[in-house]
Order: sequence, then C-alpha cells, then structure tokens
Amino acid sequence: MLPEIKGLNEECGIFGVWGHQDAAQLTYYGLHSLQHRGQEGTGIVVSDGKKLKGVKGEGLVAEIFTSEAMKELTGTSAIGHVRYATAGGGGYENVQPLLFHSQMGSLALAHNGNLVNVNSLKHQLEAQGSIFQTSSDTEVLAHLMKRSGYSDSKDRAKNALSMLKGAYAYLIMTETELMVALDPHGLRPLSLGSLGDAYVVASETCAFDVVGAEYIRDIRPGELLIINDQGLVSEQFAVSSTKAICTMEYIYFSRPDSNIQGINVHTARKNMGKRLAMEAPIDADVVTGVPDSSISAAIGYAEAAGIPYEMGLIKNRYVGRTFIQPSQALREQGVKMKLSAVRGVVEGKRVIMVDDSIVRGTTSRRIVNLLKEAGATEVHVVISSPPIKNPCFYGIDTSTKEELIASDKSVEEIRELIGADSLTFISVEGMMNALGQEGTNGYCLGCFNGNYPTEIYPDTLQYYYQK
Ligand code: SF4
Repeated sequence: MLPEIKGLNEECGIFGVWGHQDAAQLTYYGLHSLQHRGQEGTGIVVSDGKKLKGVKGEGLVAEIFTSEAMKELTGTSAIGHVRYATAGGGGYENVQPLLFHSQMGSLALAHNGNLVNVNSLKHQLEAQGSIFQTSSDTEVLAHLMKRSGYSDSKDRAKNALSMLKGAYAYLIMTETELMVALDPHGLRPLSLGSLGDAYVVASETCAFDVVGAEYIRDIRPGELLIINDQGLVSEQFAVSSTKAICTMEYIYFSRPDSNIQGINVHTARKNMGKRLAMEAPIDADVVTGVPDSSISAAIGYAEAAGIPYEMGLIKNRYVGRTFIQPSQALREQGVKMKLSAVRGVVEGKRVIMVDDSIVRGTTSRRIVNLLKEAGATEVHVVISSPPIKNPCFYGIDTSTKEELIASDKSVEEIRELIGADSLTFISVEGMMNALGQEGTNGYCLGCFNGNYPTEIYPDTLQYYYQK
C-alpha cells in the first residue's frame, strides 16, 4: 500500500563515511545539513570493523542523536539517513538505515529514491520464502543480495542491483566495506568526497562543506563503488543509455549551496528567475519570493527586471511540521502560522510573487490571499517550474494525478482559482536554458511532460492515477 500523499515534499537524504575515527559525529553533521530532505525519521549505523551497531528514531536529527545516543556509536565508518516517508509509509520499522544480521555477517542499507518494480519483486521473494520486516521498498535489496548465490559481496550487490527498476541511491555497509550505488539513470544526486584519508558520500555537496570534506566527483549512473581499507574500486553494474537527473532537485529540493553535476543550485534558480523576467515581463513595484526555496529565483527575476526585491513574505521557522496536525482546518491554520506577509513592504504595491511550483493550488491561493489582505493592490504569480501535470514515481511526493491542479486545468483556470492577477510558468526551454542546457537530454522531466525514463509498472500506475 503506497502512502497517502498530501503535496510536494522533499525526499530522503543519505550520508556515509569510511575510515575516520569520528565517523558517527561526521555523519550527524552531514545528516543535519540534509535535514531539509526528510524530517520524519533518522538513523546512523556504525562499523568498528567487527560489528555493525545502529541508533534510529522518528524525529529530527538533533532530537534522535542525543549525547547519550552518540556514545553508542563508536566506529570508524558509518552510514546515515534522513527520511521523508514515501513507498511503505512511516513508522519506526521503516526508519533507515535498515540493519540485517545473518551468519554471513551484517548488512546496513540506506536508500534515497523509489523503486517502481517493488511489488513484483516482493511477490517473487515472498514466494521463495522471504519474510519482510518493513513495508519499505529499500529492504528488497537485502533479500535479493542474500538470495543471489554469489559468495563475493560485490557480485551479490551487482546482481541484486541489476534487478531493481526506478530511482535509487544506495549506501550498503558491511563490517568491512561500504558500497555506494546509483541507478542506471542517475535520477537522484549522489556525490563522493574526501576528508584526509577518509571517503565521504552524500546526497548533496552541502554536507561536504559542513564536515570540511573536499568534493571529488558525482557518482555515475549505474556505478557501484566499493570502499574498504584498501581503497576505492569503481565498477559499472549497468550501462546507462538515458541519464536522467531529476530537474526538481534544482528547482526545489536541494539546498542552494549544493552543486549537482557541477551546477550550483542557487545559480540555477537565479537563472530561472532571470529567464522568467524575459518570458513574463510585468509592470510592478516589488518582487518577493516564497521562502525559502523561491528566494534565489525571485532575486534573479528582480535583477533582470530592474524591480526591487523585497522581503514581502516571512517564514516563521519555529512552527511544527504540518503533517503532525490532524485535520484540514488545523493544516490551514498551520500555513498562516508558517508564513506572514510584510504589510510595510506590500501595502499599496503591485507585487510579483515568485514561487517554485504549484502542486494542488491550495498553498498558492493562501499566499495570494495573505498578500492581498496585507494591502497588495495586485499579485502577479510567476512560477520557476513548468506546470506539474503528472505524478512522480521516483520518490518525490508530488500527489496523485487527480490532486495535481495542472493535470486538467489551463493556466488561466489555475490563475482564477488561486486569485492572482496574472500567472506565468517558466517554459521547459527556459528551465533547461537556466541549467545551461539546449535540450532535455540527461534530465528527467516526467512530472512536467510525462516522459519517464523507466518503465512504470501497473500496480504503481494504478495508485498514482486513482480517481
Ligand atoms: S518525475 Fe519530476 S520529480 Fe520525479 S524524478 Fe522526474 S523530474 Fe524529478
């Protein structure tokens, strides 16, 4: 059963270290910098070369890893995970890294992404006698590795990974090695760095900056890296023909100080704003961005349009996460608590409000309302992504097709529903141009244009297209 989906949400983040005496502490800091990718649960597993040991829980990094908990995590290698529940839903048992013990040794898994053939794999594995401890798709890899029949862990991993379809960035740790794998399309970001003699791996390069690591390179699609005390070996478990990194990582998910494939996320967003100023020139008094992910694009728009950028909206950072609030009425109240319009900035002004995306339209309507209640005479909404018309099957929580406002409505119909004076989405060409690309090759745009880089399996389709 796939989870109930409420809106556009970040996914998971992973971080790993091999060969450092402060492995757990570094992983803590790394995960802290990746907290924006998932706030529901977190865990760290360490290896001291003889055994694996883990601490995990539901909550934020700073809540779970108390100083008492950190004392448990002694070792020279570690992997960690921050989770936003996608396939399999929430619950303690699904918090990662998942840890398995067998007579062959122990295995810890941390996964970012979503497998699209998980149900058929689970059916096959259960028919062969597997019993799953979690409802997460991540666990499938451990069963496939165990059943592969190869004696060498690298061969077990390569054989198992070749059966997975969808998006996956995996950290696989045993007592004696750390394996790092990225799906054949490279849908999710994953980078390799070094810290002295140690290796570090992270979903985003911002985690390297926090721990003082140096970026080496991005993990290649279909690559399996094996890191142990002898060094690092790179192998391909699949040859990618259609590389397809998620464009949403640039638009919304990743932190502005991260670089993906050599492109800085803040710069990409700023370029999107500049491009929007060309595509949607508007006569207005101020430009404002919806904090935090739209501020870079708003600055770009303002700079290119020659209109002042102002802090027209303020985010209250101390409001709890909306998902813990039980009813729609409380969720709506939560949005008001989270964002405030700055009356002194917007009163009597024609405002251009830059946002990164429109999913269901409800949040955009509330923000337009906030600005008008604070005295804005006009609110022009410009969006730094193309309309999201299709769901994502690769671990990004974009709602079901029927919940996506752009799936069956025109731009004019959406404008009317959100109460804006005008509405513009960046064009696909403009977005790719902002990323320094001529066409869409090398990128996934599935949620915008419906061209998915992998086959999508019927049981997954049925859920996302439910009516
Ligand atoms: S479908 Fe959209 S959100 Fe999902 S991986 Fe592709 S671009 Fe990213």
